[in-house]
Amino acid sequence: MSQVFQIGELELKAFSDGILKTTTDFVLGMEAAKANALTGASDDGAVFLPVNNFLFQKDGATVLIDAGAGDTMQATLGRLPGNLRAAGHAPETITHIILTHIHSDHANGLVDASGAALYPKAEILVHAQEFDFWMADNDGSESEKIRRQRARNRINLTPYLDRVRRMREGEVVVGCTPMLAPGHSPGHTCWRIGTGRNAFVAWGDLVHFSDIQVSHPDVAVKYDLDPDLARRSRLRMLDMVANEGLAVAGAHVAAPGLGYLSRKGTGYIYDPA
Ligand SMILES: [Zn+2]
Repeated sequence: MSQVFQIGELELKAFSDGILKTTTDFVLGMEAAKANALTGASDDGAVFLPVNNFLFQKDGATVLIDAGAGDTMQATLGRLPGNLRAAGHAPETITHIILTHIHSDHANGLVDASGAALYPKAEILVHAQEFDFWMADNDGSESEKIRRQRARNRINLTPYLDRVRRMREGEVVVGCTPMLAPGHSPGHTCWRIGTGRNAFVAWGDLVHFSDIQVSHPDVAVKYDLDPDLARRSRLRMLDMVANEGLAVAGAHVAAPGLGYLSRKGTGYIYDPA
């Protein structure tokens, strides 16, 4: 299953990796009753977030945005490879994979259960700051969470190490340029893709609970490694996207995940494309 959107000359396809179960306990700085009301969560706070992925073709390249969770997290995830195949995009036809950041629901799907590359011909495009943080050696000062994620990320990236392109601001590859939006992870990146007004922004996990964080962009989540920094990145990016009227492709906004922002009060409204 995929849905197709036209952004200028670019045909953007949205694919689902599945549904991630979480809870509003992860919301920081908003009382539970309000968070539950905004998300429509039940009293126990359970929320089901979509995991959206995107694909486009340009100049002979086939570019996938994030790689899903594989079979590593919840049984409701790991649907991306099957959904790509069903739409005629076998894994070996993917030439580039853009990573918004290297967390499990975005990168564990790079490899199969044996640790082999699921996308044998794909080059990985990732911000240097994100790649370098997760591939660095531990020095003993890091949290258990970081140690575990680093260990997992070595599994995810090892088969790709000879085809990782560590990118920086201003660089453009297959029409994609990284814009650092750190906080959720040290090198979390929003990717600007396309040209001029016919561009869209793949914003990764700039927003997790879109029913909360679009209208209340000052609200952070416990998933953020640095919630304060994540908040500042979100405010800056949402402002830019709304100012320029750009389409946004969000990893966890309501599936299929493409839409536009408009301002309302101190926050924004998300309108699906
Ligand atoms: Zn995520």
